[in-house]
Amino acid sequence: MSPIKIVVIAVLLYLGYRLLVSGWSKKKDDRTEESVPDDGPVADVLIEDPICHKLVPKQQAIRLKSKHNNEILYFCSEECCNLFVRQEVENK
Ligand SMILES: [Zn+2]
Repeated sequence: MSPIKIVVIAVLLYLGYRLLVSGWSKKKDDRTEESVPDDGPVADVLIEDPICHKLVPKQQAIRLKSKHNNEILYFCSEECCNLFVRQEVENK
């Protein structure tokens, strides 16, 4: 193999690499433009309200950190959240 061929191959490889990198960064830019929240895939998860047993989308649910075991609980409304807090106080 002649040295010129090696240089040409090296340049082609470099250009291909640059194309790949620019393609990836372009995809990343598109993503930020859509302004997808960090917990995107988590948003569709349904969790059960421990008070009324309704299924609530995790992103819309009201979060409460349980004082008993530091577990994060999710409620459909503030009403259910307040009910749970009251129960937790009563059970102490
Ligand atoms: Zn509820």
